[in-house]
Amino acid sequence: MAFSEIEYSVSGAVARILHARPGARNAESQCLLDEMDAALAAATADAEVRVIVIGGQGDHFSAGHDLKEAQAKRQGFTVEQRWDYEQLRYFDYALRIWDCPKPTIAQVQGACIAGGFMVANLCDLVVASEDAFFADPVCHSMGAAAVEVLVHPWVMGTRKAKEFLFTGARLSAQEALVAGMVNRVVARAELEGEVQAMAEQVAAAPPFALRLMKRSLNRTMDMQGFRNALSAHFDSHQLSHVSNEFAQMRGGGLASAIERGRR
Ligand code: ZN
Repeated sequence: MAFSEIEYSVSGAVARILHARPGARNAESQCLLDEMDAALAAATADAEVRVIVIGGQGDHFSAGHDLKEAQAKRQGFTVEQRWDYEQLRYFDYALRIWDCPKPTIAQVQGACIAGGFMVANLCDLVVASEDAFFADPVCHSMGAAAVEVLVHPWVMGTRKAKEFLFTGARLSAQEALVAGMVNRVVARAELEGEVQAMAEQVAAAPPFALRLMKRSLNRTMDMQGFRNALSAHFDSHQLSHVSNEFAQMRGGGLASAIERGRR
């Protein structure tokens, strides 16, 4: 399988899927997301693979959806077109990570923003380096209701999620650790090694038992309303895309709205 915007490799029982657009801070283009989904399917189907790592080449995990591409290609989308696009590529693809029968580990350095935040947090485990930071400035800077998958309250608690989303401010790796959102924080130089060691330890467990274990843990969240809440938010998010506020923010350019919001 040939990929152009991700890097896929398998070493022993561990598959690695890396965002591979380091020059664009690993922004998630249509191509990158399609390739990531295809790689996830390949890793899931590969009987040798027991654990899947999702990360990014270079200095950052991912700065989020590629807003420049969105502006160039999808600015004129109708409600129906946007719904279909975002349901498949943002919502369904992300939930496929969550539903993957094999354990997944997010390996996070640098920026892990918005769409990238969504992908990392739908992994089962998260290991961050000390320089990692998390943000979802979509509401604060762009006038849309967060990203498409509102996983935030489930991984950091509602109180912290409100602060995170209302302010659009960054959460440091250390703050994410305290909030229980990441499993471990390590030095940048040790990130890959730490993730590999963790992946190998998980891979040593009997795979069918792990699969059932993951099902039970995910179902525990489903019984608390996880999937229904995410689905409900997706609809609200789509509504926010057609608000006057969003149109005003978009008028100044989607990508630059984030920069304007920082000021
Ligand atoms: Zn959206």
